[in-house]
Amino acid sequence: MATSPPKSSARPEAVQGNPPAGAGTPLDFPLGDFVYAAAPEATDHVVIADRYDLFIGGRKTPPLSGRHLPTLNPATEEPLAEVADGGAADVDRAVQAALAAYPRWSRLPGSHRGRHLFRIARIVQERARELAVLETLNGGKPIRESRDFDVPTAAQHFFYHAGWADKLEFAFANGRGRSLGVVGAIIPWNFPLLMLAWKIAPALATGNTVVLKPAETTPLTALLFAEICSQAGLPDGVVNIVTGGPETGAALVRHPGLAKVAFTGSTAVGKEIQRTLAGSGKRLSLELGGKAAHVVFDDAPLDQAVEGVVNGIFFNQGHVCCAGSRLLLQESIAEPFLRRLKLRMSRLRLGDPLDKNTDIGAINSKPQLEKIRELVASGVAEGSHIYQPRCALPERGYWFPPTLFTGVAPAHRIAREEIFGPVLAVLTFRTAAEAVARANNTRYGLSAGVWTTKGSRILWMSERMRAGVVWANTYNQFDAASPFGGFAESGFGREGGIQGLREYLEFA
Ligand code: NAD
Repeated sequence: MATSPPKSSARPEAVQGNPPAGAGTPLDFPLGDFVYAAAPEATDHVVIADRYDLFIGGRKTPPLSGRHLPTLNPATEEPLAEVADGGAADVDRAVQAALAAYPRWSRLPGSHRGRHLFRIARIVQERARELAVLETLNGGKPIRESRDFDVPTAAQHFFYHAGWADKLEFAFANGRGRSLGVVGAIIPWNFPLLMLAWKIAPALATGNTVVLKPAETTPLTALLFAEICSQAGLPDGVVNIVTGGPETGAALVRHPGLAKVAFTGSTAVGKEIQRTLAGSGKRLSLELGGKAAHVVFDDAPLDQAVEGVVNGIFFNQGHVCCAGSRLLLQESIAEPFLRRLKLRMSRLRLGDPLDKNTDIGAINSKPQLEKIRELVASGVAEGSHIYQPRCALPERGYWFPPTLFTGVAPAHRIAREEIFGPVLAVLTFRTAAEAVARANNTRYGLSAGVWTTKGSRILWMSERMRAGVVWANTYNQFDAASPFGGFAESGFGREGGIQGLREYLEFA
């Protein structure tokens, strides 16, 4: 069934105007009367079935559980489709299919595996518009981001790893490495296709087979990816997709047929998986939460730094593990910087995710919206000052305005806990040493940012900030060749680059 017009035409408005209920200080900058015309992305090229089954052994397979779950458009709360809710028996069938495919796939010459990956990469590019619209409909993110970031970066990961498939024997000093077996991959909802690519591309390049479980709120691009695997002629069982919720994920983790679990998601679930796998001999990589410090020194180019900070926290509504959610401003520039930042925030366009001018789309789900609201309320209750620009929220769907907190103490929950929403907590510092101490005052260690014109200070800060990635005078830059991953409660293991390949090989 093609997306029927009601699914996409019931669009929220892209709006600026009245302040949302409960908004903070009214804006003291003129908004001007510039009005953007609507620029909606077409949806008539996207086909969404009413109901999806599992993808096991290269075939669409009805779930033995007999259950299906609805999946929504978070911008309108309208159902898009029903997807299978896989049970333990379904997980078992998928793992058996992956085990059956493994001997042949792992023995294929690397150049042949590479050809399959190149084919997948090209089809992802050919079907990019379809994938981008589907990602936006199902996840709520602005089409500008799914079109210009998620889908191209996912294709890049397949191209990059296709290139490694026949060069593995030259990649590592300590030998060629052997594939592991079946990888159970579990991913979250904030970058559904990209997280799939981060796991499936290196697993396949190194000769493993995969059972993937997408997040319960965003299964649709994974199911379109299943179609792409068939279109690319990937041998049956090399990639299997089992949709469902946390219990489906837990059944996958427990399955004795797996050689490795590759998990991206919350720290709480990551810890639970680690406990389950302890002593099992299964390999594990964990990409978990974050609370990144974004440090701006007084010699930074302020306008560029404002853009970096806005990108750091409002990209994908702040549903980003490496979001720069703690802004550390050098005290001497705090006031002029915050004036510029508030002005910039007042220009952000919140509304219809399918509109090409939208900057801030919908919050992914009702529980996530409730979590953001609860943490923001705690910020107010603990005494921080809230600022939200004038911004009317659409009546239906899940929305939260861009939000800034000043007067934040390091002990406040908004300075410590991952909010995973468009909420920035601002703290100040006087010296570089104090900036490092504040930046590292977190249980996470995924990413950080630093803005300064001094190269020596960039190096000094990068050496001391305990984070897997430190961006300097930029933020949120990703490349398939560059490893990504964290320290401490942000997890372990790396994705991307030669370091990421190593996670899918054994050398003993
Ligand atoms: P989540 O942990 O609730 O869910 C992630 C996935 O795990 C989903 O597919 C879910 O169904 C599954 N799951 C839930 N409980 C499970 C269990 N007991 N056993 C096995 N699987 C289970 O996380 P989320 O809310 O979907 O995602 C947000 C989190 O992901 C944030 O904390 C964010 O920082 C993190 N994240 C990290 C990275 C990274 O690279 N470090 C990237 C993206 C997101």
